Amino acid sequence: MAGNAKLLHETLWDQDPELMDLIRKEKTRQIRGLEMIASENFTSLSVLQCLSSCLHNKYSEGLPGQRYYGGNEFIDQIELLAQKRALEAYRLSPEEWGCNVQPYSGSPANFAVYTALIEPHGRIMGLDLPDGGHLTHGFMTQTKKISATSIFFESMPYKVDPVTGLIDYDKMEETARLFKPKVIIAGISCYSRCLDYKRFREIANQNGAYLFADMAHISGLVAAGVIPSPFEYADVVSTTTHKTLRGPRAGVIFFRKGVRTVKANGEKVMYDLESRINQAVFPGLQGGPHNHAIAGIATCMLQAQSPEFRAYQEQVIKNARALCAGLLEKGYSVATGGTDVHLVLVDLRPVAITGARAEYILEEISIACNKNTVPGDKSALNPSGIRLGTPALTTRGLLEKDMQQVVEFIDRGLRLSKEIANVSGPKLSDFKRILHEDSTFSEKVNNLRKEVEQYSEQFPLPGYADF
Ligand SMILES: *Cc1c(COP(=O)(O)O)cnc(C)c1O
Repeated sequence: MAGNAKLLHETLWDQDPELMDLIRKEKTRQIRGLEMIASENFTSLSVLQCLSSCLHNKYSEGLPGQRYYGGNEFIDQIELLAQKRALEAYRLSPEEWGCNVQPYSGSPANFAVYTALIEPHGRIMGLDLPDGGHLTHGFMTQTKKISATSIFFESMPYKVDPVTGLIDYDKMEETARLFKPKVIIAGISCYSRCLDYKRFREIANQNGAYLFADMAHISGLVAAGVIPSPFEYADVVSTTTHKTLRGPRAGVIFFRKGVRTVKANGEKVMYDLESRINQAVFPGLQGGPHNHAIAGIATCMLQAQSPEFRAYQEQVIKNARALCAGLLEKGYSVATGGTDVHLVLVDLRPVAITGARAEYILEEISIACNKNTVPGDKSALNPSGIRLGTPALTTRGLLEKDMQQVVEFIDRGLRLSKEIANVSGPKLSDFKRILHEDSTFSEKVNNLRKEVEQYSEQFPLPGYADF
């Protein structure tokens, strides 16, 4: 092949070996490592096929039946299918709920929700980031508004009890009474217990606020019906589709339709969220929908209704519980004392290991996780814990008994980090240097990494064979 034909028709591997080599290396990393980042998963071959399909080529601004471009006959049907299946996956009636499947990801979905529900500088209240909330719930520090949510809206956090690690609902109620938020957000990125949506609803009602549930982390568990659903109580629900739900990297917003409240005189007040949310997504914040991702949503929402998917989500929780039990048995502490979901927040203060060191040594032995603040942490910059999740490992087929081996690897890694820290002293840079420069340590790390990688390689990964 030559010229433009070569550019267009040659495979990636023939045309761009430099990039292909990097993609293959990443694939090898994924196969060899134990992926325990709680927000990650391995999506299915069918979703990956949607993502690299011809749908990627099409512009379709607007909604099905109301596009700004021609040629959208099939794109319309795909988007309607994605909407219908999204409602079915959460057992929602189209009379009571609608959805928008166009958000590019979770963060833009949330910004569209705020844009739809409140004025600029409207008040919102979400779980504080160091307590397990998400940046998009309005994170700011003493000196800086970090998230655009806190730049364009006024955010006041609620928090967890520093001792029990549980959300302090009484304090939230008290704070809400003073702050009078217009939106209360029920959603987590690092919290191992189910949320009390009924209590959230009561507090929202006391303040005439919307209840917005951001189920990004838990939407797979909710679809499978293995944890309580926010839909009974929320006005609006957003989600990512690539975490426990195991679909494409994208977002969905669900909104209530029909009667919102009935006044004392019997007059019905209707919801008007549908047009507000749809217009906030487009033309408010986004342009052309990512049709390849919308197809991925359609097929993942079909999968989410299957018995196999339910069994997968049950196993995700069983594995998280086994992981938790194994860690407790080895003497580690866990925030809230346990888990009801797909993640465990390990509090490393009692064993005197910093979150940063733990994350670093585990990465060195091919176990991926992230450092995280734990309830009561003094500094958000130097967190004392790590967050471990089971969705990705469960996709690869690991079961409770395998969690015992995983706990063994984590424990050996963490013990090694203590040995190294005893020599290196408190600075992280010294810790990293000694780990690599001291041959006794580097050999121990290398040997442990080989063991982890050999173990991990036995478990299959969905997708294409080598990329
Ligand atoms: C991951 C997450 C988001 C953001 O999703 P992105 O796709 O990373 O933008 C929003 N809210 C919560 C609770 C999340 O965990």
